Amino acid sequence: MTILLTGGAGFIGSNLGQQLLAEGHQVVCLDNLDTYYDPDIKWSNVQTSLSNPAYQFHQGDIRDTELVNTLFQTYGFEAVIHLAARAGVRPSVQDPALYYDVNVNGTLTLLQAMQRSGVQKMVYASSSSVYGDSPRVPFAENDTADKPLSPYAASKRAAELLCHTFHHLYGFDIFCLRFFTVYGPHQRPEMAISQFTDNILNGKPITVFGDGSTARDYTYVTDIVNGIIQSLNNLQGYEVLNIGGSDPISLAGLVQVIERAVGQTALIDRQPMQPGDVQQTYASIEKAAQLIGYQPAVRIEDGIQRFVDWYLAKQNTGLVPH
Ligand code: NAD
Repeated sequence: MTILLTGGAGFIGSNLGQQLLAEGHQVVCLDNLDTYYDPDIKWSNVQTSLSNPAYQFHQGDIRDTELVNTLFQTYGFEAVIHLAARAGVRPSVQDPALYYDVNVNGTLTLLQAMQRSGVQKMVYASSSSVYGDSPRVPFAENDTADKPLSPYAASKRAAELLCHTFHHLYGFDIFCLRFFTVYGPHQRPEMAISQFTDNILNGKPITVFGDGSTARDYTYVTDIVNGIIQSLNNLQGYEVLNIGGSDPISLAGLVQVIERAVGQTALIDRQPMQPGDVQQTYASIEKAAQLIGYQPAVRIEDGIQRFVDWYLAKQNTGLVPH
């Protein structure tokens, strides 16, 4: 299949790109290497893929209608995997307009290009944050998800709704995948697991927001990649699917797992809960199991150990935060 992969130089996108190539797909990556974090890290993420003739890289913006249309005309895509976004809950509180523009208008630009060129299939990267502080756990796809707590969450939900509209109007097959906190090699440097690992290794305090009781359903990146590819292989109609580990751990528990993997004790700088943060996330994955055969395979202890091993191996390149 010839696939447009947006955001393919990022954390999830670069892991996914390699797996798509391994499965024999042609991958065209569109990524503007934005400065949310060091673009050199993104550039290094795609180095392996760039040497594969089945991989094309275009540095550009999903909101650039002319560029997007040209790519659709040039390549004859059979499907779009749309990961490009401004990610991150807390920074979205500071700059809601930017998050709205990239995540909503950018998605609309792609949907319109699909309509113009007759491409019918999209897998869209949504987020567990759309559930807000939903009291009922585990979160199920038919929960209302109409009380997002951050501009990021609202933008992800808005894009899901646009995807539904294009399914309704033009018969597109679109799966919106709600990823639950993803971690693993190439992880974004500002995410908690990267920060904690780096600081513990360097004897610096880690910033823990709240009393450590907030819980997250961490999902190892290969499980996310498998969920995306299984969706691509079973795309029919419009569906929202949770892709999570379905095994939440408290923040205090996560710190202990990282301490064990690193072999050092953390110094803790405790700070108040941050605006926009939710108390817990927890995926029901029954629907994804039924529709696409999704089952997470990597438990948090193994995943953190793999991440720390990757991190240590990478440390000398200067492409991890210091
Ligand atoms: P990332 O920031 O590493 O990757 C996003 C990529 O999109 C980056 O390479 C960035 O340069 C690119 N991008 C940003 N704006 C763009 C634009 N206007 N045009 C073209 N490219 C642009 O983030 P990630 O963690 O890999 O997340 C990938 C997707 O998964 C995002 O849509 C994110 O919202 C979603 N998601 C991630 C997580 C997680 O825990 N990492 C959880 C839920 C959902």
